Amino acid sequence: MSGLRITVWNEGVHEKISEKVQKVYPNSIGGQIAQYLEKQPGIASVRSVQLDDPDQGLSDEILENTDVMTWWGHLAHDKVSEENAEKVQNRVLNGMGLVVLHSGHMSKPFRRLMGTGCMLKWREWQSEGERERVWVVDPAHPIANGIPEYIELERSEMYGEHFDIPQPDQLVFVSWYQGGEVFRSGCCWHRGLGKVFYFSPGHETLPIYYNEHILKVIYNGVLWCAPTKPVNGVFRGNFDPPIEKIG
Ligand code: ZN
Repeated sequence: MSGLRITVWNEGVHEKISEKVQKVYPNSIGGQIAQYLEKQPGIASVRSVQLDDPDQGLSDEILENTDVMTWWGHLAHDKVSEENAEKVQNRVLNGMGLVVLHSGHMSKPFRRLMGTGCMLKWREWQSEGERERVWVVDPAHPIANGIPEYIELERSEMYGEHFDIPQPDQLVFVSWYQGGEVFRSGCCWHRGLGKVFYFSPGHETLPIYYNEHILKVIYNGVLWCAPTKPVNGVFRGNFDPPIEKIG
């Protein structure tokens, strides 16, 4: 089969308890992202899962059949079991791509993969947000493909430095906010055979996942994170040639 198998993991808690969020995302935050991704070239399938699904949407069957997972969570990071967080971590180390969105910076899989606290500074300006400019700082990076010099968001939640992450292997976006802060808003890391992309825009009460450029960055991130080699440790194991064959 050609094309990528995507799993959109969505916590799905805000959508159940907040009318405001339901109004912005009647189809859920994950549903909105999935609906966009499934129309993009090179994507074979998009599966939407939520925290309250069987196995928290993270069964072995799902993980083994996912090339790239996107992750949106906020209120219930602690509800994701350690066992499942470890499974996601291990899948990434074995080649699965992971695109972590917005408040997913505090999710268990992301923090495990980073090894740091992952906290940041934030401000939800009268819950209406403030202006953000998401500047492309690496125009030649594949994740910046088709993205203008900067993406302007009229209303966004401020995420600011210091962001407690390891130095990104590649930094693609830096955001500026009306309040004066800056933030490393698009960061790439390699972990084992896998790749991780973090992208910060996407507060639940603001319609950010309808912005065509933001969606395109998520899609580009999925493509960048996609496994480039067969996964599951093809390079590993005991390679033990007789000594005379080496030299
Ligand atoms: Zn938020």
